[in-house]
Amino acid sequence: MADDSAERLRLSPNLIAGAILVVLAIAVTVWQQPWRTDATPAKPVISANAGAVISAQIRELDNARSETEFVSAAGGSKDSRAWAKETYANISLLGATDIELRFVSGGDAGVRADGATEATVEVSWRPGPPSGLAERQTKQAEVTLVLDPLKNGAFAIRAVEHGAGALPLWLAGKLELSRSEGATVISIDGGNADQSIAEQANIAYDDVSKVVTTATDRLVVVSPHTGPRAAEMVDQSTTSIGQIAAVTTTIDGSTSAKAATVVVLNPAVFATMDTRAAQVVLTHEATHLMTNATTSNIESWVAEGFADYVALHDDRASLSVSAGQILRSVKKDGAPNHLPTAADFGSTQHGLGGTYESAWMIFRMLGARFGDKDVLGFYNAVLGGTPTAKATESAFGLSVAEITRDWRAYLVKSASMTS
Ligand SMILES: [Zn+2]
Repeated sequence: MADDSAERLRLSPNLIAGAILVVLAIAVTVWQQPWRTDATPAKPVISANAGAVISAQIRELDNARSETEFVSAAGGSKDSRAWAKETYANISLLGATDIELRFVSGGDAGVRADGATEATVEVSWRPGPPSGLAERQTKQAEVTLVLDPLKNGAFAIRAVEHGAGALPLWLAGKLELSRSEGATVISIDGGNADQSIAEQANIAYDDVSKVVTTATDRLVVVSPHTGPRAAEMVDQSTTSIGQIAAVTTTIDGSTSAKAATVVVLNPAVFATMDTRAAQVVLTHEATHLMTNATTSNIESWVAEGFADYVALHDDRASLSVSAGQILRSVKKDGAPNHLPTAADFGSTQHGLGGTYESAWMIFRMLGARFGDKDVLGFYNAVLGGTPTAKATESAFGLSVAEITRDWRAYLVKSASMTS
């Protein structure tokens, strides 16, 4: 008897297999959720009047006076709420005002494989005091809104993409701002995490202020997370800024001397540089920005040579490092027979570094002979509109031809002393 009861308690292999099948069937049913009808909803259809609906939505966004109104105007999806909250936070962070949004075109069906539609919108804005930027209304840019159609015929803004013109800063991603006495760093989507940008920006500000005692502008550095986003911030292709570590430009790409100017880093290049080289680049660009040279038409050798004069002012590297390319070329082919021209500075040109080095050597020579005060006086005179030839005479008592002659001799002598 005892054996029989023990036999009944033991589970037979068939019973185990049956139990596993039941468990599997339940698992599959739970996973498929056949009682749900909206497991894979099709995108709502985009109607013929979508353009008018989106146009009204952009007006609502333009008129929003609070975060709640802005979020509501962006639409009723999870993505649109996330986009609107981040964007509104950016607006507050920069103290941006006078935001103008104008619908241009869009709302067509079938423009995106994922069922969303697009709209082209014109944008302009005015940076506020927390940004450190000149508080001047920007030139209009065009952006592309990506909108998901909703069941009720409305739309939800999912994302904003670069259109034409420099991408407006507050539409570029999640912004963070760090501010010190003279420098502001605005990072996009985490910025360039490989360098201590805030620290380097402070050093750049201090280094420029030390030599350029007349500088009044704050330094504002924009630090995007990716190379393509850096290109959009300066309205260039990723390829065209492919070799450039940083660009000093107006925030809206305009040529107005009163426009807000920024140094935009290109992390694709900047992040690969060692600390010294990165600092030289940043201080060089800070010199352009803080002397308001970005929109001026001064000769390239004056702008670039002076920026490197400031950036390398206290640099301890040997000439074979800081002017290695030009000195090797002088050793091989002799000194160039003219000062570097604007064409020589073309950014994609081979031997770019040598051109910059040769312009720096003009200022290095002048600095050694006349000192910072006269060099700054010359630079400020040229910036102020004095013709270069007149400015060299009054600052140094030398003609451009005499400077060229002395510079060529200086290059040859420096080349002979460098290995
Ligand atoms: Zn430069």
